[in-house]
Amino acid sequence: MQQTSQFINVGERTNVTGSAKFKKLILSDNYDEALSVARQQVENGAQIIDINMDEGLLDAEKAMTTFLQLIAAEPDIARVPIMIDSSKWSVIEAGLKCVTGKAVVNSISLKEGEEAFIHQAKLCLRYGAAVVVMAFDETGQADTAERKVEICARAYDILTKQVGFPPEDIIFDPNIFAVATGIAEHDSYGLDFIEATRDIKARCPYVKISGGVSNISFSFRGNNPVREAMHSVFLYHAIKAGMDMGIVNAGQLAVYDDIPDELRERVEDVILNRREDGTDRLLEIAEKYRGDGSGQKKAPDLKWRDAPVEKRLAHALVHGITDFVIEDTEEARQAADRPIHVIEGPLMDGMNVVGDLFGSGKMFLPQVVKSARVMKQSVAHLIPFIEEEKDDSAASSKGKIVLATVKGDVHDIGKNIVGVVLQCNNFEVIDLGVMVPAQKILDVAQEEGADIIGLSGLITPSLDEMVFVAEEMQRRDFSCPLLIGGATTSKVHTALRIEPKYESATVHVLDASRAVGVASNLMSEDGADSFIEGIRGDYADIRTKREGGKARVLRPYNESLANGFDGGWTTYLPPAPSFTGVKVFEDYPLEQLTPRIDWTPFFQTWELAGQYPKLLDDPIVGESARGLKADADVMLAQILEEKWLTAKAAIGFWPANARGDDLIVWTDESRSKALAVLPMLRQQMQKQTGRANMSLADFIAPEESGVADWIGGFAVTAGHGIEPHLDRFKKANDDYNDILLKALADRLAEAFAEKMHEDVRKTHWGYAADEDLSNEDLIKERYRGIRPAPGYPACPDHSLKPILFDLLSAESTAGMTLTESFAMLPTASVSGFYFAHPEASYFGVGKVGEDQLQSYAERRGADLDIASRWLRPNLAA
Ligand code: SAH
Repeated sequence: MQQTSQFINVGERTNVTGSAKFKKLILSDNYDEALSVARQQVENGAQIIDINMDEGLLDAEKAMTTFLQLIAAEPDIARVPIMIDSSKWSVIEAGLKCVTGKAVVNSISLKEGEEAFIHQAKLCLRYGAAVVVMAFDETGQADTAERKVEICARAYDILTKQVGFPPEDIIFDPNIFAVATGIAEHDSYGLDFIEATRDIKARCPYVKISGGVSNISFSFRGNNPVREAMHSVFLYHAIKAGMDMGIVNAGQLAVYDDIPDELRERVEDVILNRREDGTDRLLEIAEKYRGDGSGQKKAPDLKWRDAPVEKRLAHALVHGITDFVIEDTEEARQAADRPIHVIEGPLMDGMNVVGDLFGSGKMFLPQVVKSARVMKQSVAHLIPFIEEEKDDSAASSKGKIVLATVKGDVHDIGKNIVGVVLQCNNFEVIDLGVMVPAQKILDVAQEEGADIIGLSGLITPSLDEMVFVAEEMQRRDFSCPLLIGGATTSKVHTALRIEPKYESATVHVLDASRAVGVASNLMSEDGADSFIEGIRGDYADIRTKREGGKARVLRPYNESLANGFDGGWTTYLPPAPSFTGVKVFEDYPLEQLTPRIDWTPFFQTWELAGQYPKLLDDPIVGESARGLKADADVMLAQILEEKWLTAKAAIGFWPANARGDDLIVWTDESRSKALAVLPMLRQQMQKQTGRANMSLADFIAPEESGVADWIGGFAVTAGHGIEPHLDRFKKANDDYNDILLKALADRLAEAFAEKMHEDVRKTHWGYAADEDLSNEDLIKERYRGIRPAPGYPACPDHSLKPILFDLLSAESTAGMTLTESFAMLPTASVSGFYFAHPEASYFGVGKVGEDQLQSYAERRGADLDIASRWLRPNLAA
């Protein structure tokens, strides 16, 4: 980078707070290696090296002294100035005593007032050290250009006039802060630094300007190509303005001219705060450039390839590396007496290690699934040879498990993960897929002589279906254990409704990580009985507690209705949408969805707990999460680039009014003929005075108010086109990518719902045209209006979906259909209603009484027992 030739870069790898590697070396007293880090910095072109030992577990003064004394004896390192970096003055002083050449103190400031500042400056002067002065005063760190200039000018005057400090030894750090954080106030931070640099250089002759460059791009952690582009663009402008030096990783700087035009322009918009939507526009394309930093990709360490083949297979399994698995398997096969021995030997050994690491919390699901992929590919290579040998004595498994997502339900990510984890632990898994009728599950289980049956379900109607499967197992005299799992299931429901229907063991499995423990216990020769006894006791307790517990006293339905939420219909005028009827989106650009992704649930899918992005730095799951995110980013880029998925949607707005708890959707503005009726449910719990018994119907103007109001509806999907890719992964025995793609499609569907809701508020309904929220605020739903989804707590009845789908003609417009249990297809879909009322909020209906059930059944025109089935989870008793 030409314009940096005068620029002094400060090496920062010898900093325990910035480099995990250096910290480890110092903590383990490995000063030899630590010195080589310093040497590498100099060799790589650092003209100053920054040394920081501020770490709670360290005696920082001692570490600083030791390290600096060692450096003094290394001429190839000691030839560059040392920057002594600490927030503790005592450490700085200890360092100053050891440095023989020119030292730079990092840093002093007016934070604690002039007196302390002058005292420290005088000491630096006595040691002949240059000094970094942070733009920090008694009131805090300077953020705006004015404040930066004001503080630096003041410090300059004190240093030059009162302390007699040589101005050429003053280095100002006017604070580089992150831009593109989504917070509007931060947008000008890049420009503030650049402008301040120019002014300070004009105001304070001979001083130097420095800064920590990587801060600027902090919001793009994990996306190195974009970060490098940001650093390079920032430096290009800051150096022109007079920046002299900075902490940058010289190896991680893009060449300004090599940055693709599109990226450079958008980065420049952000750094120079040239347009209001700069952040969004950079986010839009950021994903596309991720992973393009070809130059800086570390070559993988291939030393493990030198080990004998058994060790290599084990290594590949534990690390989930598929690159060499076929050639290694083949080599092992040729060396083995029989092909089966490869499975029973090295493969099982490797998987045992994986199982142990997972069991002890040292390995997480994404890695386990990757290990399983290695296993499957290796086994797939061996199978033809095993068959050729006509060897039926296949490796003995711990047990045979039939898994299925029940009839009417389509979600299978969780079930697939359970399948993979069980296979890793040497169970034979027969996965029947989704929407599997009870009869098929039981027929296959019988034919195969299954040891265990596992059922999975995501939506509430699946609970009833599971009860039915249990009844069928009883009727057909099954005796194998039944496992229950999936988002909608619970221990309480299993204990209350499923277990009583089936005499043999019935066990609720909370998540994939428990599946192996449960299955192993059930298969254990001597432990199964006591395990089952324990579960039975546990579930019996749950039932007793339920029976003994006080029945909740519900408010009569008519009283609850009278205690509804007051929408203020005498003063509030609902805004009219920009159109009524349905609007269709055939192919919504995926690029506009990716910035809206909420990543936290993505990590939950893989059982990595924590908030994104914080969990990326988590000491326990961080590494696993980063690896998973990197894979997700690569696939996401491919999904966009090669257009694997098509996003389709239908949204609609209709004139509407409330009639009691029914929402009447009118054919037109004459409001005389109903196009559809959407019956809503109302809370019946006892409430404190002044608190309403809520119903979504309260957010729409009642008929008798004479106020015109509207309701909206939406059905969005990101799942069209997914099948051929899933097939491809399945054929390649690649569960990891299969699950990854499904999880990403789900994320895109949710992001689509979020983006469409934003478009609706700003444009299509248009009641919040000026809204300006960050993605974080969007995820927290800090906007006006809600989009409740059927099957969720405010409208728990999934059977409203057919009415919504009819209103939207969702099948012909968006290609979306419903199963008999109202699960949506494609799987990666979201649907719901739009409410614009300023006080509309989410709530849970909770338990409803017999009286409301009656009314609801009548209003829906449904038989009481059908309505009971729909509302089962909400029925009292
Ligand atoms: N950012 C999340 C969004 C999904 S969860 C993700 O990417 O997964 C939030 C959505 O669930 C809401 O927008 C709404 O559609 C639905 N929801 C949440 N609570 C609800 C409730 N009490 N009643 C109805 N729908 C609810």
